[in-house]
Amino acid sequence: MDRAFRSRDSQFDGVFYTAVRTTGIFCRPSCPARKPKSDHLEYFPTVRDALFAGYRPCKRCRPLDPAGAPPAWLESLLRRIDEDPTRRWHDSDLRQLGLNPLRVRRWFQSNHAMTFHAYQRARRLGMALGRIRNGGDLTDSAYEHGFESFSGFRDAFQKLFGVTPGRSRSQRHVVVNRIFTPLGPMLVGVLDDSLCLLEFCDRRMLETQVRRLQHRLDCVMTPGESPVIAEVEQQLKTYFEGKRREFDVPLVTPGTEFQQRVWDGLRQIPFGQVTSYAAQAKRLGCPEAVRAVARANGDNRICIIIPCHRVIGTDGQLCGYGGGIWRKRFLLDLEKQTV
Ligand SMILES: [Zn+2]
Repeated sequence: MDRAFRSRDSQFDGVFYTAVRTTGIFCRPSCPARKPKSDHLEYFPTVRDALFAGYRPCKRCRPLDPAGAPPAWLESLLRRIDEDPTRRWHDSDLRQLGLNPLRVRRWFQSNHAMTFHAYQRARRLGMALGRIRNGGDLTDSAYEHGFESFSGFRDAFQKLFGVTPGRSRSQRHVVVNRIFTPLGPMLVGVLDDSLCLLEFCDRRMLETQVRRLQHRLDCVMTPGESPVIAEVEQQLKTYFEGKRREFDVPLVTPGTEFQQRVWDGLRQIPFGQVTSYAAQAKRLGCPEAVRAVARANGDNRICIIIPCHRVIGTDGQLCGYGGGIWRKRFLLDLEKQTV
């Protein structure tokens, strides 16, 4: 914890909190403030523990906000973009809102790994795509969504999604967004009314997982909002608060027949219980296929809701987890406490 705090490692945000005895303030590990000497520090697993120990939240890193949530200064801009994604934002518009354009661009770059301009374009394209799929005219869509020319629209579209607008009519459309959890931000994807993706944003192989899903569904992905995403966010919130044991969001899990069987099996492990890879393979009727079962677990794209974290080694070791062992431990501890 000391090392994570000193190196401002944001991966540990939400995992623990650091309190400074001399100032009476507590911080997230990633706090940009100057780091005091180690013997002045105290560590807490939750905000609640730090508050009850008499510490107050730091005004710089705002440990009460969910990890990775947009900062307060950006909220009005994000709301305006949602209200009117076709509007084009220039630096002068941002300044009028009292925002520093450079700071806005930096935030998008580091939180969405895309430029502010690319984010706006992606939102506009997402809307245009919805129209095209409903049979709208391509040229109308281009003009209506703020592109000066059809060729400019087509180029931008192709660059972002790797398909032309004409071809996208036959493709399915997955809406993606980020949601915030105590274990960090997650990438969520929804196809029609079903959840098809829920992964920690920093998990290893995330790009591979997303590419495979895109290939399996033959879909394009655009950032946006959906009622299912809001529902997933709400259900996860109550799960992390210890008030929910089961999820009831419709899922779509394209994969091989074997993967489907493994994932179905995972969903039958009750809340708060664990099983081993060997026991899981045996139950599927293929006791020799322990490694294949473990691999299919690792290919699960709907974290937490398909509870691959409930499978551990025969010797009780936690073994691998795409989102990191520390998250697996956190989830198992959470479920043990809730039972
Ligand atoms: Zn702080």
